[in-house]
Amino acid sequence: MSVYQELGVTPVINAAATLTRLGGSRMAPAVLEAMNDAAGSFVHIDELQAKAGAVIAEITGAEAGYVTTGAAAALTLGTAACLAGMDVSKMDRLPDTTGMKNEVVVQKGHRNAYDHAVRAAGVRFVEVGTLGYPGAGGTFGWQIEEAITEQTAAVFCPILETPGTLSLPEVAEIAHAKGVPVIVDAAAELPPRSNLQRFIAEGADLVAFSGGKAIGGPQSSGILAGRRDLIDSVALQHQDMDVRAETWSKRHYIDEGRVRGVPTQGFGRALKVGREEIAGLITALKIFAAGKDEDDWARWDAVLDVVHESLDGIPGVTVHRTSAPPARYPAIWVELDEQVTGIGSYALINELLAGDPPIAAAESLADHRRVGVLPHGLTTEEAGIVGRRIRELTVG
Ligand SMILES: *Cc1c(COP(=O)(O)O)cnc(C)c1O
Repeated sequence: MSVYQELGVTPVINAAATLTRLGGSRMAPAVLEAMNDAAGSFVHIDELQAKAGAVIAEITGAEAGYVTTGAAAALTLGTAACLAGMDVSKMDRLPDTTGMKNEVVVQKGHRNAYDHAVRAAGVRFVEVGTLGYPGAGGTFGWQIEEAITEQTAAVFCPILETPGTLSLPEVAEIAHAKGVPVIVDAAAELPPRSNLQRFIAEGADLVAFSGGKAIGGPQSSGILAGRRDLIDSVALQHQDMDVRAETWSKRHYIDEGRVRGVPTQGFGRALKVGREEIAGLITALKIFAAGKDEDDWARWDAVLDVVHESLDGIPGVTVHRTSAPPARYPAIWVELDEQVTGIGSYALINELLAGDPPIAAAESLADHRRVGVLPHGLTTEEAGIVGRRIRELTVG
């Protein structure tokens, strides 16, 4: 009996890509083996993080790296590092930022639902730029420049293509001229694999990636890559700090005058990472980095071919297929003429999920009468089921 049967939970066929609410990605056998292996012994997590960080640094071109419980956790911890640096009393006070530099500058066009992760560290956003006028709205460089004051802890620059926003290289140049770090949310910006290095090369001081999306690591894993001093601060604000100065693995920090004492159970304790996740993430990252974007595309296209076969020639159904860059991945978008099919986009999504087996389809274009089939989480066999089920439900 599977664990899901035992709990009475019904598995879902995932045609909606790497969604957190469905469990993220399908981990490769080598990743699961690494996690199992890691569970077999105790290790110093500090040491494991340091070795994992070296792998992340090498793959991203950053000075240092750290494994987190996800991109959101990476953003929260990264922000905490920009606030506290190596000041242990500040670490102890977070998320109360009274009396600290506690403002983060962000372009209005970069505000998004995930930026809660940055605000969670206790900062206040200072927004610059406009949405909607003049033209499509936008930001001028001088606006960022003027918004950076003595109170600025960081500039936040998610990778979003909102028209009129300044790009990362432009933002980084302005921020660095004022001595302020730039935090980048690149959670879902893979593939292309070249993005593993791109944002660091473009001037990011910290970059967050999800481990449970394209990298194919554990759902509750992520990467923070960036400046050594900021990653050092993250490490001190994370995990188990229930130690004495005399026995602390980093007691040389005290001797060297880098910290006044041992930080206590830090702000990041609620975001702690297990050795299994660290091992799984690093194994997945190595596999992902060694792979080729073209091979992903070929595999995904083959999966979508199977779905596509069932969808040809249905009255009222138009199949839109993205099969080449600049699209980020291949996809099928099924456009419905409800007059002919008798079923609209939202009803189709709900019927697919209510079926046996349940199928989760992508709903981001449902307002435009389109239902998406995305290949990331589908086996060839499941793709056949998805195609046949959509056909049954749309043949009017
Ligand atoms: C998925 C996502 C996140 C959160 O990433 P987790 O790894 O799930 O914590 C943050 N920002 C963006 C833009 C995302 O797409």
